[in-house]
Amino acid sequence: MRQLASVQRIVDIQPIPNADKIECATVLGWKCVVRKGEFKTGDLVLYIEPDSLLPFNPWTGEQLGDKPLRLKTVRMKGQVSQGLVLGLSLPQLAPANGQPEGTDVSDLLGIKKYEPPPLPAALAGIARGVFPSFLVKTDETRIQAFPGVITRHADKSFAVTEKLDGSSTSYYWHDIRGDGTYTFGACSRNLDLEPGDSAQWVVAANLGVREALTKEQVDNGRNLALQGELVGPNIQSNKLGLPSVTWYAFNAFDIAQRKFLSHGEFIEWTEKNNIPHVPVIDANFSLQEQNVDSLVRFVTRKSLLNPQVWIEGGVFRPLVEERDPDLGRLSFKAINPEFLLKYGE
Ligand code: AMP
Ligand code: MN
Repeated sequence: MRQLASVQRIVDIQPIPNADKIECATVLGWKCVVRKGEFKTGDLVLYIEPDSLLPFNPWTGEQLGDKPLRLKTVRMKGQVSQGLVLGLSLPQLAPANGQPEGTDVSDLLGIKKYEPPPLPAALAGIARGVFPSFLVKTDETRIQAFPGVITRHADKSFAVTEKLDGSSTSYYWHDIRGDGTYTFGACSRNLDLEPGDSAQWVVAANLGVREALTKEQVDNGRNLALQGELVGPNIQSNKLGLPSVTWYAFNAFDIAQRKFLSHGEFIEWTEKNNIPHVPVIDANFSLQEQNVDSLVRFVTRKSLLNPQVWIEGGVFRPLVEERDPDLGRLSFKAINPEFLLKYGE
């Protein structure tokens, strides 16, 4: 679970070249600029993650009413700074006094997560139901929140795919009632969509998603779902500058087994069936000798779909599917700070 605001310990403090009033604190795997001398390594602090919506001004305590403050990535004196490190003196924190490192205080502070704007109505479609329980909603954890994951899995090989900044879309072909009648479905991040002229249904028809899923069930007896990112004009500002709306798969899920296909099986399946998949940045990437900073540097690069623009980030998954005690499915994202700074996120 993502902790937007929590009690944490300062892991390290480093000077920032050519800056005399500020320095850089590390909390979990996050780098955050603080006033020089205000904190020292080992201090317990309040850490608030980027993308948090604060109902109060963190410096004055003043309530902000219906215009909450969104914490964005910034750069000060050349140092990227994410989130906010504060002392534990906010009056709202009194009930958490004496609570150990790791205590989540998001609810106590009324902090919510910023959600990107939904698809414009013309693209969004109408719901026929909630997100199906036989699928798993897509999500990725930022590596900064669980830096220990890197050393825990240092011995494994990972695939790194390009993270596309669009709208999560899932397709399924499933015998929902178990009576031998199959349904094709298209889902947005949270809803099962009525067939029609929504972008999700149009793109599925263009790409032959239904045919590919049907063929898999007829030929191999496997009910699959494909999950991917809908991208293009009018979706999250189309930062890749794509000419038309399309979709790139990033997951294949065996519905009956409730299991994701491994990266290799997924790539092989999509390519054999002519279904586009997210670009593969590295098909065999080792976490040995890596840390949060080096992973962030690794994803500070241009898109394989459009070499003129920054990628949003990379998604890291082991070649063999695996579970992790912090993440559940072993899969995480590293976001490109240049992307966040450029688009004011
Ligand atoms: P976020 O958009 O920050 O909430 O990150 C998680 C989302 O990234 C997932 O829910 C997917 O919709 C999306 N995504 C985009 N590209 C990929 C990719 N290559 N692998 C996995 N998820 C991706
Ligand atoms: Mn996204």
